[in-house]
Amino acid sequence: MKNQLSIYNTLTKKKEVFEPVNPPFVGMYVCGPTVYNDVHIGNCRTFISFDIVYRYLLYLGYKVRYVRNITDAGHLENDADDGEDKISKQAKLENVEPMEIAAKYANGFHNIMKQFNALEPSIEPLATGHIIEQISMVQKIMDQGFAYEVNGSIYFDVQKYNETNDYGILSGRKIEDLLTGQRSLDGQDDKRNSCDFALWKKASDAHIMRWDSPWGEGFPGWHLECSVMGSKYLGSPFDLHGGGMDLKFPHHECEIAQSVAGVGEELSKYWMHTNMLTINGQRMGKSVGNSLLPEELFNGDNQLMDRGYDPMVVRFFMMQTHYASTLDFSNEALQAAEKGFGKLMKGMQLLNSLPTSDASSQSAEELKAKCDAAMNDDINTPGVIANLFDGVRFINSVNDGKATITKEDLEILQKLYNDYVFDVLGLETIEAESSSDSMDDVLDIIISIRQQAKESKDYATADLIRDKLSAINISLKDEKGNVSWSYNE
Ligand code: AMP
Ligand code: ZN
Repeated sequence: MKNQLSIYNTLTKKKEVFEPVNPPFVGMYVCGPTVYNDVHIGNCRTFISFDIVYRYLLYLGYKVRYVRNITDAGHLENDADDGEDKISKQAKLENVEPMEIAAKYANGFHNIMKQFNALEPSIEPLATGHIIEQISMVQKIMDQGFAYEVNGSIYFDVQKYNETNDYGILSGRKIEDLLTGQRSLDGQDDKRNSCDFALWKKASDAHIMRWDSPWGEGFPGWHLECSVMGSKYLGSPFDLHGGGMDLKFPHHECEIAQSVAGVGEELSKYWMHTNMLTINGQRMGKSVGNSLLPEELFNGDNQLMDRGYDPMVVRFFMMQTHYASTLDFSNEALQAAEKGFGKLMKGMQLLNSLPTSDASSQSAEELKAKCDAAMNDDINTPGVIANLFDGVRFINSVNDGKATITKEDLEILQKLYNDYVFDVLGLETIEAESSSDSMDDVLDIIISIRQQAKESKDYATADLIRDKLSAINISLKDEKGNVSWSYNE
């Protein structure tokens, strides 16, 4: 059953068995960041989700070529066809070259992805490295009659395309609504219809990032690079295309239209869209102004944060929610994730030293089958984690002498946890000093000293310990002499 992966295809709006065009090869494309400022943890959620998809495809034995682009030109303010290029605008603000901006934020992005233990993509193409290919795609779309030139800019003719194809196939937008909803063209706009989009824009005198083309000096439209680089490196159609769901329209809708018009093929067989990371129910976004940076999460240096968390705890927090559901950020959820992560790691440590017997109280194969089934069910990471926690309860019982395990089953469990926790979920053990394990250990010591103080009727010391812990937000709960601790709400 290893290959029965089903994914929810946002193109067909159905859960489908994943059947690559040319197995065992899989071509996977994910829209990467526009490198004009730091990625926020919302962006990271999307990239971590696809890191897990990539890892799981590798686990299933596919030979995956994973392409994730870097947008370093052509993405204009407000994702529109007018205005300044996001990168050159930032370059002016920082008083440096546009390519310095692109390099700085691409490096920052790589550094963050490394801290999250995300695998590097097989190819990470730059939009500026594929200007010739983009010009050639524009030419092909024009040759097919789906684009027109006005004053050195080339626009995609959405209405013409829709006569023979379905513009809106992915996002569900209806061309009639797009046409009636359009603002009246005021004569300043070169487009025939405002739902048309730029494939190539003439560069104004002030526009710094510019290239020669058959239509004069200009620059590519934002949507073009992904159609071009996806088909260049993965063929047409390729297997899987991903991105955040905010990219469905217009970006991905336009990618599809360009490919169908220019290449004559669908861009990708399967589409996956991640849902948004939110704060107080509101989407985290650069334009919304509620961005939390990964570094701030790691060091706690933001007013929204009670304290810092290890990147592995943040990664674990993210995968506890299915990629297609929204995930709301909160300190409480991170604390819970830290505890859960600690429990999982402690269980894994025990796997190295469990005593074995002639019989097992629980089947290790069954647990493995449940983990596989969860992942095969549209990459259900919370389901996998629930199963891994069930396994940890079993491991703890064996360790406490309340259950037994055979040598063979122990080996299966050891491999299962290594495969799933490290390879598929991409988690890593945390250095002892920052782990919640060591926090647990230290608090156990403090609690036992307080118990001793109470037993010898030294209530002043016992109260002092409780008050000092309370001052750092830790409260103690005494249930019939069994003392536990938790962070205050
Ligand atoms: P951008 O650089 O803005 O194009 O975003 C890079 C990726 O992050 C895209 O796939 C976006 O869809 C995704 N993204 C942006 N905001 C969020 C968010 N709040 N939660 C999850 N993914 C996001
Ligand atoms: Zn894209």
